[in-house]
Amino acid sequence: MNFPLQCNTSSTYGWRTRFAPSPTGFLHLGHVASALHGWAFSRSGGAWLVRMEDIDPQRCRPAYAQAILEDLAWLGLEPEGEVVHQSERMAAYGQVLETLDRLGVLYPCFCTRSEIARESTAMFSAPHTAPDGSVLYPGRCHHMTGAERAARMAEGQPYVLRLDMARACARVAAQPLTYQDLALGTVECQPELFGDVVLARRDVPASYHLCVTHDDAAQGVTLVTRGVDLRPATDLHRLLQALMEWPTPAYAFHPLLCDAEGRRLAKRDGAQSVRDMRAAGMHAQDVRHAAMAGDKKQ
Ligand code: GLU
Repeated sequence: MNFPLQCNTSSTYGWRTRFAPSPTGFLHLGHVASALHGWAFSRSGGAWLVRMEDIDPQRCRPAYAQAILEDLAWLGLEPEGEVVHQSERMAAYGQVLETLDRLGVLYPCFCTRSEIARESTAMFSAPHTAPDGSVLYPGRCHHMTGAERAARMAEGQPYVLRLDMARACARVAAQPLTYQDLALGTVECQPELFGDVVLARRDVPASYHLCVTHDDAAQGVTLVTRGVDLRPATDLHRLLQALMEWPTPAYAFHPLLCDAEGRRLAKRDGAQSVRDMRAAGMHAQDVRHAAMAGDKKQ
Protein backbone atom coordinates (compact mmCIF):
# COMPACT_ATOMS: atom_id res chain seq x y z
CA MET A 1 0.00 0.00 0.00
CA ASN A 2 1.34 3.44 -0.91
CA PHE A 3 0.91 6.34 1.43
CA PRO A 4 -0.04 9.70 -0.03
CA LEU A 5 2.46 12.46 0.45
CA GLN A 6 1.26 14.39 3.46
CA CYS A 7 3.41 17.46 3.13
CA ASN A 8 3.42 20.61 1.09
CA THR A 9 6.04 20.08 -1.61
CA SER A 10 5.74 23.65 -2.90
CA SER A 11 7.24 25.05 0.30
CA THR A 12 11.01 25.52 0.61
CA TYR A 13 10.89 25.74 4.41
CA GLY A 14 9.34 24.10 7.43
CA TRP A 15 10.35 20.52 6.70
CA ARG A 16 11.43 17.92 9.23
CA THR A 17 14.86 16.96 7.90
CA ARG A 18 17.87 15.10 9.21
CA PHE A 19 21.64 14.98 8.82
CA ALA A 20 22.78 11.36 9.02
CA PRO A 21 26.57 11.05 8.96
CA SER A 22 28.50 7.83 9.46
CA PRO A 23 31.06 8.58 12.20
CA THR A 24 34.04 7.11 10.35
CA GLY A 25 36.14 10.30 10.47
CA PHE A 26 36.03 14.04 11.11
CA LEU A 27 33.55 16.39 9.48
CA HIS A 28 34.76 17.95 6.20
CA LEU A 29 33.27 20.58 3.87
CA GLY A 30 31.20 17.99 1.99
CA HIS A 31 29.44 17.07 5.21
CA VAL A 32 28.93 20.71 6.10
CA ALA A 33 27.29 21.35 2.70
CA SER A 34 25.05 18.34 3.26
CA ALA A 35 24.15 19.43 6.80
CA LEU A 36 23.36 22.99 5.65
CA HIS A 37 21.22 21.73 2.77
CA GLY A 38 18.89 19.90 5.17
CA TRP A 39 19.14 22.63 7.79
CA ALA A 40 17.95 25.32 5.33
CA PHE A 41 14.86 23.29 4.44
CA SER A 42 14.01 22.92 8.12
CA ARG A 43 13.84 26.66 8.90
CA SER A 44 10.54 28.41 9.68
CA GLY A 45 8.71 25.86 11.74
CA GLY A 46 10.39 22.62 10.73
CA ALA A 47 12.99 20.60 12.62
CA TRP A 48 16.55 19.52 11.91
CA LEU A 49 17.59 16.19 13.42
CA VAL A 50 20.95 14.45 13.62
CA ARG A 51 21.35 10.69 13.40
CA MET A 52 24.59 8.76 13.67
CA GLU A 53 24.60 5.95 11.11
CA ASP A 54 27.03 3.85 13.10
CA ILE A 55 25.99 0.23 12.56
CA ASP A 56 29.42 -0.74 11.19
CA PRO A 57 31.60 -1.50 14.25
CA GLN A 58 34.73 -1.87 12.08
CA ARG A 59 34.55 1.63 10.60
CA CYS A 60 32.61 3.78 13.09
CA ARG A 61 34.06 5.26 16.30
CA PRO A 62 32.21 6.94 19.21
CA ALA A 63 35.03 9.50 19.31
CA TYR A 64 34.20 10.58 15.73
CA ALA A 65 30.49 10.81 16.60
CA GLN A 66 31.39 13.09 19.51
CA ALA A 67 33.71 15.19 17.34
CA ILE A 68 31.03 15.58 14.65
CA LEU A 69 28.55 16.89 17.23
CA GLU A 70 31.15 19.31 18.60
CA ASP A 71 31.96 20.59 15.11
CA LEU A 72 28.27 21.01 14.27
CA ALA A 73 27.76 22.97 17.50
CA TRP A 74 30.76 25.17 16.64
CA LEU A 75 29.17 25.79 13.22
CA GLY A 76 25.97 26.89 14.97
CA LEU A 77 24.03 23.80 13.88
CA GLU A 78 22.22 22.45 16.94
CA PRO A 79 19.92 19.49 16.31
CA GLU A 80 16.45 19.27 17.74
CA GLY A 81 15.93 16.52 20.32
CA GLU A 82 18.17 13.57 21.14
CA VAL A 83 20.77 12.46 18.64
CA VAL A 84 19.84 8.97 17.47
CA HIS A 85 22.56 6.30 17.29
CA GLN A 86 21.64 3.43 15.00
CA SER A 87 23.94 1.04 16.87
CA GLU A 88 21.48 1.30 19.80
CA ARG A 89 18.42 0.42 17.72
CA MET A 90 19.13 -3.17 16.68
CA ALA A 91 15.97 -4.45 18.40
CA ALA A 92 13.80 -2.18 16.25
CA TYR A 93 15.57 -3.33 13.06
CA GLY A 94 15.05 -6.94 14.18
CA GLN A 95 11.31 -6.31 14.38
CA VAL A 96 11.28 -4.96 10.83
CA LEU A 97 13.07 -8.10 9.65
CA GLU A 98 10.48 -10.24 11.44
CA THR A 99 7.67 -8.39 9.66
CA LEU A 100 9.34 -8.78 6.28
CA ASP A 101 9.89 -12.46 7.02
CA ARG A 102 6.20 -12.87 7.81
CA LEU A 103 5.40 -11.24 4.46
CA GLY A 104 7.53 -13.97 2.83
CA VAL A 105 9.98 -11.57 1.18
CA LEU A 106 13.21 -12.57 2.98
CA TYR A 107 15.51 -15.55 2.59
CA PRO A 108 18.86 -16.55 4.08
CA CYS A 109 21.88 -16.55 1.77
CA PHE A 110 25.03 -18.49 2.63
CA CYS A 111 27.15 -17.36 -0.35
CA THR A 112 30.46 -15.61 0.24
CA ARG A 113 31.44 -12.50 -1.75
CA SER A 114 33.93 -14.45 -3.85
CA GLU A 115 31.34 -17.14 -4.64
CA ILE A 116 28.93 -14.44 -5.80
CA ALA A 117 31.56 -12.75 -7.99
CA ARG A 118 32.55 -16.14 -9.48
CA GLU A 119 28.98 -17.19 -10.18
CA SER A 120 28.06 -13.81 -11.66
CA THR A 121 31.14 -13.87 -13.92
CA ALA A 122 30.34 -17.43 -15.04
CA MET A 123 26.75 -16.46 -15.87
CA PHE A 124 27.30 -13.09 -17.54
CA SER A 125 31.07 -13.13 -18.39
CA ALA A 126 31.57 -10.16 -15.96
CA PRO A 127 29.81 -9.42 -12.68
CA HIS A 128 26.47 -7.65 -13.28
CA THR A 129 26.06 -4.58 -11.11
CA ALA A 130 23.17 -2.65 -9.57
CA PRO A 131 22.79 1.17 -10.02
CA ASP A 132 24.90 1.72 -6.87
CA GLY A 133 27.76 -0.40 -8.25
CA SER A 134 27.16 -3.42 -6.01
CA VAL A 135 27.31 -6.87 -7.64
CA LEU A 136 23.84 -8.22 -8.47
CA TYR A 137 23.13 -11.42 -6.62
CA PRO A 138 22.94 -14.26 -9.16
CA GLY A 139 20.44 -16.17 -7.04
CA ARG A 140 21.90 -19.50 -5.90
CA CYS A 141 20.36 -19.42 -2.39
CA HIS A 142 17.09 -18.04 -3.76
CA HIS A 143 16.36 -21.49 -5.15
CA MET A 144 17.50 -23.49 -2.12
CA THR A 145 14.98 -25.90 -0.61
CA GLY A 146 13.58 -25.26 2.85
CA ALA A 147 15.23 -28.47 4.09
CA GLU A 148 18.69 -27.40 2.91
CA ARG A 149 18.24 -23.96 4.47
CA ALA A 150 17.25 -25.50 7.78
CA ALA A 151 20.17 -27.96 7.67
CA ARG A 152 22.74 -25.25 6.97
CA MET A 153 21.35 -23.04 9.70
CA ALA A 154 21.38 -25.93 12.14
CA GLU A 155 25.09 -26.46 11.27
CA GLY A 156 25.69 -22.85 12.24
CA GLN A 157 26.76 -21.68 8.77
CA PRO A 158 26.86 -17.86 8.65
CA TYR A 159 24.30 -16.18 6.40
CA VAL A 160 22.88 -12.82 5.38
CA LEU A 161 19.18 -12.08 4.87
CA ARG A 162 18.24 -11.02 1.36
CA LEU A 163 15.10 -9.37 0.05
CA ASP A 164 13.31 -11.54 -2.51
CA MET A 165 12.95 -8.68 -4.97
CA ALA A 166 10.44 -10.36 -7.30
CA ARG A 167 8.11 -11.25 -4.43
CA ALA A 168 8.54 -7.85 -2.78
CA CYS A 169 7.70 -6.00 -6.02
CA ALA A 170 4.72 -8.29 -6.62
CA ARG A 171 3.35 -7.48 -3.15
CA VAL A 172 3.23 -3.75 -3.82
CA ALA A 173 2.38 -3.92 -7.55
CA ALA A 174 -1.17 -2.59 -7.09
CA GLN A 175 0.11 1.00 -6.94
CA PRO A 176 2.88 2.67 -8.93
CA LEU A 177 5.97 3.16 -6.78
CA THR A 178 6.95 6.83 -6.95
CA TYR A 179 8.28 9.68 -4.82
CA GLN A 180 8.32 13.44 -4.98
CA ASP A 181 11.70 15.00 -5.75
CA LEU A 182 11.56 18.73 -4.96
CA ALA A 183 13.54 19.49 -8.13
CA LEU A 184 12.16 16.89 -10.55
CA GLY A 185 8.59 16.28 -9.41
CA THR A 186 7.25 12.73 -9.48
CA VAL A 187 9.95 10.08 -9.94
CA GLU A 188 9.07 6.48 -10.85
CA CYS A 189 11.06 3.85 -8.97
CA GLN A 190 12.80 0.78 -10.35
CA PRO A 191 13.92 -1.14 -7.26
CA GLU A 192 14.16 -4.35 -9.30
CA LEU A 193 17.45 -3.04 -10.75
CA PHE A 194 19.03 -3.83 -7.36
CA GLY A 195 18.15 -7.52 -7.37
CA ASP A 196 17.97 -9.44 -4.10
CA VAL A 197 19.72 -6.92 -1.81
CA VAL A 198 21.11 -7.77 1.62
CA LEU A 199 18.93 -6.42 4.46
CA ALA A 200 20.80 -8.07 7.34
CA ARG A 201 24.55 -8.55 7.15
CA ARG A 202 26.59 -11.39 8.62
CA ASP A 203 28.41 -9.24 11.15
CA VAL A 204 25.49 -6.88 11.92
CA PRO A 205 21.83 -8.01 11.84
CA ALA A 206 20.82 -4.93 9.82
CA SER A 207 21.94 -2.93 6.77
CA TYR A 208 22.15 0.68 5.60
CA HIS A 209 18.96 0.38 3.48
CA LEU A 210 16.95 -1.15 6.31
CA CYS A 211 18.11 1.25 9.03
CA VAL A 212 17.90 4.49 7.06
CA THR A 213 14.37 3.72 5.86
CA HIS A 214 13.17 2.59 9.28
CA ASP A 215 14.63 5.59 11.07
CA ASP A 216 13.35 8.20 8.63
CA ALA A 217 9.85 6.79 9.24
CA ALA A 218 10.32 6.39 13.00
CA GLN A 219 11.64 9.94 13.36
CA GLY A 220 8.83 11.44 11.27
CA VAL A 221 11.20 12.88 8.64
CA THR A 222 9.08 14.64 5.98
CA LEU A 223 11.94 15.59 3.63
CA VAL A 224 14.98 13.36 3.11
CA THR A 225 17.91 15.49 1.98
CA ARG A 226 20.91 13.54 0.74
CA GLY A 227 23.71 13.51 -1.86
CA VAL A 228 22.88 12.65 -5.48
CA ASP A 229 24.99 9.51 -5.11
CA LEU A 230 22.12 8.09 -3.03
CA ARG A 231 19.42 8.86 -5.60
CA PRO A 232 19.34 5.30 -7.05
CA ALA A 233 19.08 3.70 -3.59
CA THR A 234 16.00 5.83 -2.94
CA ASP A 235 14.01 3.50 -5.26
CA LEU A 236 14.84 0.63 -2.96
CA HIS A 237 13.89 2.66 0.11
CA ARG A 238 10.49 3.42 -1.45
CA LEU A 239 9.93 -0.31 -1.88
CA LEU A 240 10.70 -0.94 1.80
CA GLN A 241 8.38 1.90 2.81
CA ALA A 242 5.56 0.40 0.72
CA LEU A 243 6.13 -3.11 2.14
CA MET A 244 6.19 -1.81 5.72
CA GLU A 245 3.32 0.68 5.11
CA TRP A 246 5.48 3.57 6.27
CA PRO A 247 4.77 7.14 5.15
CA THR A 248 6.57 8.48 2.08
CA PRO A 249 8.78 11.51 2.69
CA ALA A 250 9.66 13.94 -0.08
CA TYR A 251 13.28 14.01 -1.32
CA ALA A 252 15.81 16.72 -2.21
CA PHE A 253 19.23 15.72 -3.55
CA HIS A 254 22.32 17.87 -3.35
CA PRO A 255 25.47 17.75 -5.48
CA LEU A 256 28.65 16.31 -3.95
CA LEU A 257 31.56 18.62 -3.25
CA CYS A 258 34.67 17.77 -5.26
CA ASP A 259 38.37 18.59 -4.87
CA ALA A 260 40.52 20.44 -7.43
CA GLU A 261 40.96 17.19 -9.41
CA GLY A 262 37.20 16.71 -9.60
CA ARG A 263 37.19 13.87 -7.07
CA ARG A 264 34.43 13.74 -4.49
CA LEU A 265 35.67 15.05 -1.11
CA ALA A 266 36.44 12.07 1.09
CA LYS A 267 38.07 11.50 4.43
CA ARG A 268 40.25 8.73 3.02
CA ASP A 269 41.75 11.14 0.43
CA GLY A 270 42.66 13.56 3.18
CA ALA A 271 39.92 16.19 2.67
CA GLN A 272 40.63 18.97 5.18
CA SER A 273 38.53 18.59 8.30
CA VAL A 274 36.45 21.29 9.94
CA ARG A 275 38.67 20.83 13.04
CA ASP A 276 41.77 21.69 10.99
CA MET A 277 40.07 24.77 9.54
CA ARG A 278 39.09 25.86 13.02
CA ALA A 279 42.62 25.25 14.34
CA ALA A 280 43.95 27.31 11.43
CA GLY A 281 41.89 30.26 12.70
CA MET A 282 38.91 30.16 10.31
CA HIS A 283 35.60 31.42 11.67
CA ALA A 284 32.52 29.22 11.69
CA GLN A 285 30.73 31.56 9.31
CA ASP A 286 33.60 31.34 6.80
CA VAL A 287 33.48 27.54 6.92
CA ARG A 288 29.75 27.65 6.29
CA HIS A 289 30.25 30.02 3.38
CA ALA A 290 33.03 27.86 1.94
CA ALA A 291 30.71 24.83 2.05
CA MET A 292 27.88 26.74 0.39
CA ALA A 293 30.20 28.21 -2.26
CA GLY A 294 31.51 24.74 -3.05
CA ASP A 295 27.93 23.50 -3.29
CA LYS A 296 27.00 26.17 -5.84
CA LYS A 297 30.04 25.47 -8.04
CA GLN A 298 28.76 21.95 -8.85
N1 GLU B 1 24.73 7.82 6.23
C1 GLU B 1 24.68 8.17 4.85
C2 GLU B 1 26.03 8.72 4.43
O1 GLU B 1 26.83 9.08 5.30
C3 GLU B 1 23.62 9.19 4.51
C4 GLU B 1 22.25 8.77 4.88
C5 GLU B 1 21.21 8.92 3.80
O2 GLU B 1 20.86 10.03 3.42
O3 GLU B 1 20.76 7.93 3.30
O4 GLU B 1 26.30 8.80 3.24
